Amino acid sequence: MLSEHFDLSEFTCKCSKHCTATPDKELIDKLEKLHNMLDAKSIIITSGYRCPEHSASPEVGGTVNDAHTRNIAADIIAYKQDNTQYDAETIAEAAELVGFTGIGIITAYAVHVDVRNKTNYVNDHWYGNERTGNDYIKTFIRGTKFVPRGTKTKMKVTIEYDDHTFSGLLEED
Ligand SMILES: [Zn+2]
Ligand SMILES: [Zn+2]
Repeated sequence: MLSEHFDLSEFTCKCSKHCTATPDKELIDKLEKLHNMLDAKSIIITSGYRCPEHSASPEVGGTVNDAHTRNIAADIIAYKQDNTQYDAETIAEAAELVGFTGIGIITAYAVHVDVRNKTNYVNDHWYGNERTGNDYIKTFIRGTKFVPRGTKTKMKVTIEYDDHTFSGLLEED
């Protein structure tokens, strides 16, 4: 495992050669922070590393210099604890809060995130929406109140019933 929730196999190139390359450590660190911020049940990497040939293929339609070819990007979808999906706007908002420098909405549920900077890429910032073609989004922040994992209030509850005592922790929704 690369980290608590992510494995190298999830980042393998989707071409016929299944190329692998180690993702940037900052990418994995921020994906873990995003996982925590969303209190996600899971974050699925739908596309991680892309070799230059696969990136430029008609199927992908990217460029040989795409952030995915530099191991700094992931396309993701995220599941809530109740197994429904987070919408792309919420994922993008949380991604901005944890400090991703490249964020792009792809579909209603899928988001591109990357950790671009002037050393590893041609620019150090991009917030966009591939659905609308808007490449100049200032912020995805709309005031959603995130409750990161580990910060939820817990309450110990004890119930007496039929000469038995039951107790346990209730966690805030
Ligand atoms: Zn490949
Ligand atoms: Zn992408």
